[in-house]
Amino acid sequence: MSLKAEKVPIKGFIETSFIDWKGHLSSVIFTGGCNFRCPYCHNSDLVLRPNELEDIPLDYIIKRLKKFKKWVNHIVITGGEPTIHKGLLELIEEIKSLGFNIKLDTNGSNPEMLKELAKRDLLDYIAMDIKGPLDRYSRWCGIEVDVEKIKESLRFILEGSIDYEFRMTVVPFFHKEKDVYETVKYIKTAKRFYIQEFKPRNTLNPSFMTIEPFSPDKIKEIKENVKRLFVLKDAVGVI
Ligand code: SF4
Repeated sequence: MSLKAEKVPIKGFIETSFIDWKGHLSSVIFTGGCNFRCPYCHNSDLVLRPNELEDIPLDYIIKRLKKFKKWVNHIVITGGEPTIHKGLLELIEEIKSLGFNIKLDTNGSNPEMLKELAKRDLLDYIAMDIKGPLDRYSRWCGIEVDVEKIKESLRFILEGSIDYEFRMTVVPFFHKEKDVYETVKYIKTAKRFYIQEFKPRNTLNPSFMTIEPFSPDKIKEIKENVKRLFVLKDAVGVI
């Protein structure tokens, strides 16, 4: 096993999930740490205190994946932000070489890594979060962000050959409704876009736990309005 792959801090592992890769039963690997600080993020331990969480050895995970391969051959790599770890290439290479399909969840801040993974034919699906209108991107992410990198990732995914989806977590008060419509203008040709409902639990910024999510009717209304902006009308969903 590659030393670089083993250096990626794996902090969570779900053996079977019906919700992390639409249409597939998947296993989910969570890497620790993130370069963003989205105030509404509900993975605060994984983002802020990864060193306090126990490491799960890669060889243990590989053993479990092999054991259930007959039933589960789709693997989701998520975080935190997986692409901040240099050993991610080797980690995915290791899993892919066993014949698994790979979905990567990313915030889009590392287009170089996405391109390298694609060049090595290591990805079957990319799910990228888009946090809000690009002209104020740092506001949504809680830190200074190089928005050119985000644009590069968006372009790469939209123009590339790897299957994908974009997602946006919609947070009342933090996002105005018009921010959602402004955001989707960058990706209106995308084949899949999911509006992700905000869940006020374990948030990075504790004051976000008092925010009530949008009502189901409001989400439905936003979805219908978003649909009108997309080229493919069935591209838009809610998760
Ligand atoms: S929501 Fe933001 S802070 Fe949380 S893991 Fe994703 S990119 Fe990182």
